[in-house]
Amino acid sequence: MAIDGSGTALSTCVLAPNPSPMTLEGTNTWVIAAPGSSFAMVVDPGPEDEGHLRRVVDRAAGTGRRVAQILLTHGHSDHSAGARRLAALTGAPVRAADPAYRLGSEGLTDGDVVLAAGCELRVITTPGHSADSLSLLLPEDGALLTGDTVLGRGTTVIGADGSLADYLRSLDAMKVLAENASVRVLLPGHGPLVPDPSSMLDFYIEHRAERLAEVRAALAAGDTTAQQIVARVYHDVDPGVRPFAELSVQAQLDYLATGSEREPSLPGRPRADDRAGAPARRTTGRACGGARRPRSAPTGPRCAASRGRQSPPAPC
Ligand SMILES: [Zn+2]
Repeated sequence: MAIDGSGTALSTCVLAPNPSPMTLEGTNTWVIAAPGSSFAMVVDPGPEDEGHLRRVVDRAAGTGRRVAQILLTHGHSDHSAGARRLAALTGAPVRAADPAYRLGSEGLTDGDVVLAAGCELRVITTPGHSADSLSLLLPEDGALLTGDTVLGRGTTVIGADGSLADYLRSLDAMKVLAENASVRVLLPGHGPLVPDPSSMLDFYIEHRAERLAEVRAALAAGDTTAQQIVARVYHDVDPGVRPFAELSVQAQLDYLATGSEREPSLPGRPRADDRAGAPARRTTGRACGGARRPRSAPTGPRCAASRGRQSPPAPC
């Protein structure tokens, strides 16, 4: 599926020309507008690339619209670096969770509803990939703009400013939205749109459980540092992305060290708590080894430990 130009009734992707192992085909900049509106919203301007930013402006202007709001899913530079220049081109403010990335007086916090361009965007904070990550629900399309929390294929990394415990909670929250049909499609920050959010979220949750099991096994085998674990678990990773593998392993070590692990459960089986008749505690982790491909399993490059599969883009 072509990513550039894809979207939903109210959203259109403008693909930035910054492909890499970490950004897949590039950053997805989303232009949001309702038919008949004179304005548009832009989510994640992407890198500071003049040609890309002018394409974004032209995408709006070509339909007679002016960019009225610029929103950031998080502050990582492949999403935010072009925001200041796009603001200069359009006069639009930049809203973000982290005040450091804002231009103007308004931020984005959980529960905010952004009304512009004839559309409604609801802010759902989804920390984990980074501390400031958020998702934006476009209810009219049943679409969730996920930034880097869920990608169009493969899996994402837990950044130095992220937290695995937060990330697992965010995946759980997204899964609830997918299961109650509030979200029928994901519009990610990289990769193609995801037409089956529930299956993709199952895959993400299972993947994290697999990774944790691998890290536990490495610790049991005597590894003590992230570097040692990367050498064992991510042995086939591209040397260029090894630092990101170490970040991901460190996030898992931090998570294990807190003792806040969730009770894993195999798909379709009751959790230990359930069997014991204990009070319900929503835990959706999956035991390693029970992993399976979801109905619409992500294809193409996946993460480094996907043994026997295609070479990975990111050491997630
Ligand atoms: Zn990011």
